[in-house]
Amino acid sequence: METTLMPRAKKPAPSPMQDPEMWAASPNLLSSRARALEPSLTLEIAAKAKQLRADGRDICSLSAGEPDFDTPAFIRTAAAEALERGHTRYGPAAGEPALRAAIAHKLSTENGVPTEAAQVLVTNGGKQALFNLFQVLLEPGDELLLPSPYWLSYPEMARLAGAAVRFIPSDASAGFRLQADALEAAISPASRLLVLNSPSNPTGMVLSRPELEAIAAVLRRHPQVAVVCDEIYEFLLAPGHKHHSFAALAPDLAHRVFIVNGLAKGWAMTGWRVGWLAGHGTVIQAAIALQSQTTSNVCSFAQFGALAAINGTRDCVHAMAEQFNGRRQLLSDGLRSLPGLTLMPPEGAFYAFPDISSTGLDSMTLCNRLLDEVGLAVVPGVAFGDDRCIRLSCAAGPATIEDGLNRLRRFLQSL
Ligand code: GLU
Repeated sequence: METTLMPRAKKPAPSPMQDPEMWAASPNLLSSRARALEPSLTLEIAAKAKQLRADGRDICSLSAGEPDFDTPAFIRTAAAEALERGHTRYGPAAGEPALRAAIAHKLSTENGVPTEAAQVLVTNGGKQALFNLFQVLLEPGDELLLPSPYWLSYPEMARLAGAAVRFIPSDASAGFRLQADALEAAISPASRLLVLNSPSNPTGMVLSRPELEAIAAVLRRHPQVAVVCDEIYEFLLAPGHKHHSFAALAPDLAHRVFIVNGLAKGWAMTGWRVGWLAGHGTVIQAAIALQSQTTSNVCSFAQFGALAAINGTRDCVHAMAEQFNGRRQLLSDGLRSLPGLTLMPPEGAFYAFPDISSTGLDSMTLCNRLLDEVGLAVVPGVAFGDDRCIRLSCAAGPATIEDGLNRLRRFLQSL
C-alpha cells in the first residue's frame, strides 16, 4: 500500500523582530541594567505550568502564591458600580482620596500605626510599592539588608535602584529567623534599608514580638538604616501565631519604617493590582512624584473595589485564612511523611520550604525533573537564596495539594 506523506509545512523565516542575527549587529542597545535583570521565576514557572496544561499535559501546579478563591462578590460589585458611575478617567497619581483615607484608618486602628491619608500612596500591587520605595531611598553605594531566604524580587529591585544587596543568611535549623546579632554584624555605614517580611515568603516564618523588639534595639544604634515591612501575608497565620506591625512596637523609629501591603493575598485579589506604601510624608511625596512620572494612578475602578474591601468586615478574609490553615497543615503533614525531606513548619503565609538536599540534586535540577517526569510545578529554592530547598505553595485547593504530594512521592521513590 502506498502511503502519502502530508506535504511538510515550510518553516517560516524568523520575523525581523525576532531574528537573533539582526540583534547581534547592535548588541549594546539593551542597557546594562536590563541585561543584568532576572525575570521573576515565580511568575515564569506559573505561566509555564498553565501553558503546558493548555498544551494538553497533565500538570499539577504548586508554584505561584495565588489564592484559588474568587474575589468576594461585594468587592466585585463595588468595582462594577464604580465603572458604571463613570470612574473611567485619570485620578490623582497618589490614589483616590477615599481609599488613601481608608488605608490610613486601617493602619491606625488594625495595625496600631497612627497614619494620615497624606502618608499613603496607592500602588499597582505591593510590588510597585516596593519598587517606588527602593527607587526613592536607594542609590549606588547603598546596601539593602536582606534576610535570607528572601522573596526573589527584593534583590532585583534593589539592583534596579543601583544598590548592592547584603544578605543575612539563616537556615532551617535556626527556623529561618532573623537573629538580632546577625543583623548587627551585617550593618555597615553603607546600609540604608532592611527588609522585614513577616509572615515570610518563602519560609512561612513569623517574627515574634520579642524578636521584633530585639531588631528595634539594634536599629536604634544605626540611625542611617530605614526598614521596609512587607506585610502582604498579615492575615495568613497558623494557629498560635500573631502578626505585629514593627512600626507599632517601635514608635520612636516610625519615621524610618515603611509599610508595604496590598489586597492580593488576604482578599484574593491578585489580578486587581492594588497595594499601598505608607510611611513618613517626605518619602511618600517623593514616591508620589515618581509614580506621577511613571504609571500615574492605579486602575480607577479597581480602587473602588479595594475601598469596599478595606471598609468591609474582615469575615471573608478570615474565612479564607481558615481554609489556608487547613491546606498548610495538609501540605506540611504530607511533606513530613516523605522520606528524605526536612521541613521547618510554616507559621504563616501559604508556602512550605522543605530541604531536599538529601536527594543529592540542586533545587533547579530537582524542579526541572519534577516538571518533566511527574508534571509537578514548584519553585527552586535557589531563586530565594537557598539551593537546598524547594518552595511549594498551598494556595491551591486540597485536592491539588494531595495530587502534588503524590507526584512528589512518586518522584522521590524513583530516585
Ligand atoms: N508573590 C507571589 C509568589 O511569590 C506571586 C508571584 C510574584 O509576584 O512573585 O508566588
